[in-house]
Amino acid sequence: MDARQVVVVIGGAVAGSEAAVMAAERGALVVVIEQNARPYGKIEDGLPRWHAALRRKEFGRIDANLAHPNILFVPRTRLGEELTLDELIDEYGVGTVILANGAWRDRHLGLTALDRFAGAGLIYQNPLVRWFNHHPDPGWTGPSYALADGAIVIGGGLASLDVVKILNLELYQRALAARGIDVDVVELEHSGIDKVLEAHALTPEALGVRGCTLFYRRSAEDMPLATDADPTPERLARLRKTRLKILDKVLRRYLVNFEPNAVACGVLVEDERLAGLVFRRTRAEDGGGVVEVPGSEFEVRSQLVVSSIGSLPEPLPGIPMKRDVYAFRDWDTGELDAERGIYGLGNVLTGRGNIKESRQSAREVVRRLAERRHAGELDLDTASEEAHAAARREASEVLDQALARPAMPGERVEALVARVYRRWDEVGYGGDYAGWIAAHRPWDWTEDEISGGEDGDD
Ligand SMILES: Cc1cc2nc3c(=O)[nH]c(=O)nc-3n(C[C@H](O)[C@H](O)[C@H](O)COP(=O)(O)OP(=O)(O)OC[C@H]3O[C@@H](n4cnc5c(N)ncnc54)[C@H](O)[C@@H]3O)c2cc1C
Repeated sequence: MDARQVVVVIGGAVAGSEAAVMAAERGALVVVIEQNARPYGKIEDGLPRWHAALRRKEFGRIDANLAHPNILFVPRTRLGEELTLDELIDEYGVGTVILANGAWRDRHLGLTALDRFAGAGLIYQNPLVRWFNHHPDPGWTGPSYALADGAIVIGGGLASLDVVKILNLELYQRALAARGIDVDVVELEHSGIDKVLEAHALTPEALGVRGCTLFYRRSAEDMPLATDADPTPERLARLRKTRLKILDKVLRRYLVNFEPNAVACGVLVEDERLAGLVFRRTRAEDGGGVVEVPGSEFEVRSQLVVSSIGSLPEPLPGIPMKRDVYAFRDWDTGELDAERGIYGLGNVLTGRGNIKESRQSAREVVRRLAERRHAGELDLDTASEEAHAAARREASEVLDQALARPAMPGERVEALVARVYRRWDEVGYGGDYAGWIAAHRPWDWTEDEISGGEDGDD
């Protein structure tokens, strides 16, 4: 084989597939290592499934990227397990490794007494959304959650709004079904639970549903549901109104309860089972901080706590960490270790400190799109274009550096490709990306939809 530029990309979703196709278009041989059978990442498992049209559009875009002939896709292969960074760099001599593996580890709630209830009383956001998006699939083999009514949700960001909607949609769908009223959760989301109950002359009390409660440590106006890096007093006033509007819509349409200025400080246990949490009130301070009010404790009884306080990248062997995040040397270029050729793109850059105004990260762009989605101001095509343009901008700087490195000698390219083929045999992938995807489609993505089904209201 001839000497060639080789780029290995870890994770094949929005960030990974954009970087991969750009490198491929510039003539490099690209190996995309993806832990799952499908490469859709947060689009499949983080964006709730009622965004059917956006999900389908994004699945299609990722597929179009990864079908490039210069890309070798390696599914069901996890960096750190079936392949390691040391193996790639030291054994095969790969010059560039791009980490596009996202942020899949939930931030720890910080109540260690709650840890023993993990999965049975305590659920974190990432597995919950994944379950919600998949559990109607008869082939689903992941964890299964029986969602108790009256759940405590701890959060305050945009993702926690999806979480409270998921909980109430599931609860009300079940309660309606018990009355012989069959409404799909996606339909319930589109219509609003309030409207569906109204149409059937029902109330939450009549159905016996309390619904979940979102607990936030500050006031509603302070929730990070709409942000501005450096707001003027006028812009801040508008921002606070927008936050209230976004929250109000969720509380009203999905019958969610809200408790501001409260932090969890204790765990209630009865008969070895989770019985609730103790909260303490908080008060805002002049400098913008928040303090707990001594003696203000109150108990909230519930068998279910859902934590939605943020996602972090998973630790990987060979990747240095600084506290909870990867120790990037340059958060703006995604450089982790230029000597070894390791870079990061997309959500893996979670933890970025000072974002340069002029160079908005792809992660920040998607966050702002999510703000607009919750505010009901998202145009599907524009959103998708903006997200991918941002991913490409971010990838382009990394690739400028990566592709300036010396090409990989032919025999090393050959050894790496042979390793890829061995892995393909192990996972049963024949090298035909389109054929593989056709055989491994998400359960809710049928042939009809591929040729253009309904579009939902994304
Ligand atoms: C308009 C718009 C709105 C969106 N809104 C939301 C939203 O509200 N909520 C949301 O969650 N997402 C949302 N998304 C999805 C969003 O695209 C992603 O959250 C974001 O783009 C990050 O993508 P990523 O490629 O960096 O990471 P991810 O999408 O997380 O992809 C990472 C990939 O790496 C793989 N991987 C992880 N670890 C390993 C490993 N060790 N070895 C091999 N592979 C690994 C994963 O399986 C995954 O496929 C939205 C997207 C768009 C376009």
